[in-house]
Amino acid sequence: MGYAHRLDGERRFKLADFDPGEDSGLKREEGEKKTARLIEELIELQELLYAVRTQSVLVILQGRDTSGKDGAIRHVAGPLNSQSCTVASFKVPTEGELAHDFLWRVHARTPSAGDITIFNRSHYEDVLVVRVHELVPEEVWRPRYDHINAFERLLADSGTIILKFYLHISRDEQKQRLLKREEDPIKSWKLSVGDWREREHWENYTAAYDDALNRCSSKHAPWFIVPADKKWFRNLAVAETLRNALMPFKDGWLKKLEELGRARKEEIDEYRSRNHMG
Ligand code: ADP
Repeated sequence: MGYAHRLDGERRFKLADFDPGEDSGLKREEGEKKTARLIEELIELQELLYAVRTQSVLVILQGRDTSGKDGAIRHVAGPLNSQSCTVASFKVPTEGELAHDFLWRVHARTPSAGDITIFNRSHYEDVLVVRVHELVPEEVWRPRYDHINAFERLLADSGTIILKFYLHISRDEQKQRLLKREEDPIKSWKLSVGDWREREHWENYTAAYDDALNRCSSKHAPWFIVPADKKWFRNLAVAETLRNALMPFKDGWLKKLEELGRARKEEIDEYRSRNHMG
């Protein structure tokens, strides 16, 4: 059992079933040490993924305001090699984006073989904020669950390892974080009246998340509920989930790399003997 709760469509659940304050009985210092070790392993796995280029990794981060999407990216993705790890942030769609289907802008940012892409928000906004604020009628957003499932199936069939994280914070923790931001001269720019306005829709968002997570969980594109009231535990759970998802591929990737290395060596040996090189 990992630190995050894996949902792969086997059973129905509600966000309310999970405690945002969980920490598996660990102390912060202990948790941070574990995270550092997991990140070392991730760096190594990223190098193999990049070298063999048989798969790609798509990490989706969703969560309410202040749930720690930016923090998770900084701590877990920050140490990775930026040559093959990118972040794509999805904001309010532009006029041009709205002139296409809702997956158009998203598909364009999916990772190439060998790469890791982290989505800071994603196509799930199209069944979350869009549903809560009635930005389109229900007959438009409701079929999107099926569209999302078909889209993620396509990505998985094309060699994308998909991991979706819901950063689960409590209502009280969000309030503390918003108040703290207000007092911080470096962070208060991030605040807006909208953050407090969104809090009024807390229950509507809960219902929208419950539906999205239940309808769009599968073995090939699971959701992970990350207890996120403690930032260090959130980082640990995300790092561990990523590492555990990639580790089963390690031996195969190493084998493939050895084969590639042998083929290269044969090519070079042949070239040198043909050209009478020492
Ligand atoms: P963040 O909160 O992610 O740090 P912003 O403050 O710029 O960044 O917020 C981005 C906003 O864009 C969020 O309020 C989010 O709900 C909104 N958004 C993202 N995707 C969509 C979408 N498809 N339709 C409407 N709004 C969206």
